[in-house]
Formats: sequence, C-alpha cells, structure tokens
Amino acid sequence: MTESHLPLPTGDWPVIEPGWVWLCGAGPGDPGLMTLHAINALRQADVIVYDALVASEILEWARADAEKIYAGKRGGKPSAKQADISLRLIELAREGKRVLRLKGGDPFVFGRGGEEAQTLIQHGIPVRIVPGISAGIGGLAYAGIPVTHRDVNQAVTFVTGHDQTGGPTGSLDWDALSRSAGVLVIYMGMKHAPHIRKGLMDAGRAADEPVAIVTQATTADQKVLETTLGTMLDDIAAADMEPPAIICVGRAVLMRQVLDWQALMRGETPRDLDPLGRGKPAEEA
Ligand code: SAH
Repeated sequence: MTESHLPLPTGDWPVIEPGWVWLCGAGPGDPGLMTLHAINALRQADVIVYDALVASEILEWARADAEKIYAGKRGGKPSAKQADISLRLIELAREGKRVLRLKGGDPFVFGRGGEEAQTLIQHGIPVRIVPGISAGIGGLAYAGIPVTHRDVNQAVTFVTGHDQTGGPTGSLDWDALSRSAGVLVIYMGMKHAPHIRKGLMDAGRAADEPVAIVTQATTADQKVLETTLGTMLDDIAAADMEPPAIICVGRAVLMRQVLDWQALMRGETPRDLDPLGRGKPAEEA
C-alpha cells in the first residue's frame, strides 16, 4: 500500500470502518479546497466512487491500490442512474469495503447527496457526511465575488437551473425570487439561461442588472464573464462559455472590480476601488 505523502496535521483522525460509506465533498475543483476530513478519507478508502466534477489531481491522492469507480452524471450525456449509484454503494459496503463517495462541491448542495445518504441509511449502511466548499460560494470567491455584502444583500438565494427532468425549473416562482433575492446564485443554469433570464426580467429585474458567469471555477481553466441580464445570452455565446458554470445575478458582481484578487496577483491594478460607491473606507463605516 502506497501512502499519500500529503501530510495531515497530527490528531485523532476518524477511521473508516469496513462496511461504512463516507459521503464527502471534494470542493469546486482546486484540490487545496478539500477538507482535511476528505483527505483523511481518501487515504483510507478501499473504493472511491466519484463524480464528473471531482478533479483528477484529487484522485491521485488516493491509495495506489484503491479502486476508483466513475459515477459521472453530466447534463445531456449518458450517465449512471442515481438508483444504480446508490445500489452500487450498498453492494460495496456489504462486501465490507471502506467506501468513499466523493462528490463535487458540497455533497448536500444540488448534488443528490441527501438522496444517496437516505438510501444508504434505509438499507442499514452506516454513513458519515463530510461537507465541502460549494461552487456557488467558493467558486464565486475565486472570481472575486462575495455572495453577501452589507451594501447589497441580506439574503442570498441558491437556485438550480433545471428540474428533475432536466427541463427548465418550472416550479420556481420568479416573481417571488426577484422580489426577495438581492443576489441569486444559479447552479446548472447554462442550458436554460434564456428561460432564467426571461423569468427574472419578466419579474422586473432590470436589463442592466450585473451578472457574472464563472466556468470551471477555482481550476486553472477558470473563466469569468461579467455581463448584464440584458446582454448575457449574446455575451455567453461570444465568450464560448461551457458548463460547469455558476451564474451570479446581483450587484455583488460589481465587487469584482475591486476584489478580482487573481488579477491583482498577476500584477493588475483594481479597476475601481469603490465599485458600490460607499465613498469611505470600509473600516470607517
Ligand atoms: N454539489 C455541487 C453542485 C453539484 S450540481 C456543489 O456544491 O458545488 C453541478 C453544478 O455545480 C454545475 O452544473 C455548476 O453549476 C456547479 N459547479 C460545480 N463545480 C463548478 C465549478 N468548478 N465551476 C463552476 N460551476 C461549478
């Protein structure tokens, strides 16, 4: 057995017992955004059942002899059925394996982790849940967009862009969302971007409302498009942006003009030190 050389801080890290399934978040992409519990699990697991959005570098941290099973599910592509994945996990656990179910972002955020864990528990399989950094928070942070800001919003709304059938989310009340949500963070929204845009604009959100699209967030291929509700569709097409993407709607997007820390690391200067027009340094506010 080859041990990963990635160090864990000393301490009593939990042990995966045979027959257990740990359902862990792998974060949005950058391996550095994994939690220590998730790394601890990677170093022990006999079997790793992972999703499409789990970065391959992360899997390299697994034991060399660990079995890696791909259970990818990407919109529109042939995919493992949810029931099959859950049954496979049950089977592996019953074989006495130490199973790591590794999911992109946070397992309980739009990732069907709740369903998987429920099925496991219904079948008497013991589980542990390890949360992860969700793309809608961490991915936006990598783009320099804070999901809350005192001057913008007291609530943030996480939305899925499609429903169980893969169609546009028909059950969403866009009027209510538009009225209540200063900032909307939309997962899986690219396919139905026209529907989402129309829903928000019909409900009264302005054409010049700032929008950001972040694809492959936190990875070396991260792309960020700053646009508006009015122009977003043309801009997405022109920028050739492909999922996975987070769409952020709201004035929080303006903060990127000062907080695009990756640009600052490249030596660029902030485009605007006070994009929300606070007029005074934050500490005096
Ligand atoms: N559990 C995941 C979300 C799974 S749903 C989480 O908490 O992040 C899959 C959707 O997540 C994608 O369609 C996309 O909207 C978003 N997503 C996941 N990783 C992403 C990334 N690196 N960059 C942009 N969006 C991402």
